[in-house]
Amino acid sequence: LTFEVTILGSSSARFTADRFQTSQILNHNERYFLIDCGEATQIQLSKYRFSFQKIDKIFISHLHGDHYFGLIGLITTMHLLGRTKELSIYGPKGLKEILEIQLNYSETTLNYPLIFSETNPDKAETIYEDDKLSIISFPLKHRIPCTGFRFTENPKVRNIIKENIPFNLPPLQILELKKGNNISWEGETLIADFCTSKPKKSFSYSFCSDTIFDENLIENISSSDWLYHEATFLHNMLERAQKTYHTTALQAAQLAKNADVRGLLIGHYSSRYHHLEDHLAEAKSVFSNTLIATEGLKVDISS
Ligand SMILES: [Zn+2]
Ligand SMILES: [Zn+2]
Repeated sequence: LTFEVTILGSSSARFTADRFQTSQILNHNERYFLIDCGEATQIQLSKYRFSFQKIDKIFISHLHGDHYFGLIGLITTMHLLGRTKELSIYGPKGLKEILEIQLNYSETTLNYPLIFSETNPDKAETIYEDDKLSIISFPLKHRIPCTGFRFTENPKVRNIIKENIPFNLPPLQILELKKGNNISWEGETLIADFCTSKPKKSFSYSFCSDTIFDENLIENISSSDWLYHEATFLHNMLERAQKTYHTTALQAAQLAKNADVRGLLIGHYSSRYHHLEDHLAEAKSVFSNTLIATEGLKVDISS
């Protein structure tokens, strides 16, 4: 089962020669979720060979341009490529209106349904769930309403070990064993632990951009396998970070540590930084399993 994030853009408000505004694509078992959609997203999707039409859900954290200015272009390209299946967009209040104005004034009628869901900047909410995955949005503390997202795999079921079951069991009894419950059948007790394999671990990925350092985030990101957190500045610019509601590399690492995540991915670097070794060193001094988000980087959430 694939659970992998690819970084499409790692920069903050301004791009640099090799860093673009925030965007990531999450592949969960060949379902594709786009998280934020900075200006270069279409180009980056093409570069790393992602099919636009496989994306069915897009998540936008907030309405600063570096997180969604690529959206109208991507939506239009999907239309030009002949898309007919619906596209869901989860994002803040105002996004629907902005996109509709752009489509109306260009007299574009999309060939496919665009479904909007407004995120709640005040409290955590489940915004999507199915039998494999659940997705929540949760508040980030930024200059304008902003949310993070957490993608969590549902608990996986146990698998039957056929050779350990001497009977042909009806579906109801099989289901009980898969749930981990012992059953009685034809006068014998069947032990779930013996008749089924332990369920595989479920994994989760949390995304936080943009936000001031905020320990209240912990309740929503705790024990994520991987956490993406912005690290716009180095810690010697703490004052600037606080004033602009951003985070330093050191603070991102502190949060990762306190939230007990397995791995930390930092990004959203200010364009003033020409290299990122200092961000990495600073974060690693607090949380060793840190990676620097760079364009094209793939991180396996399940490893
Ligand atoms: Zn930003
Ligand atoms: Zn922002």
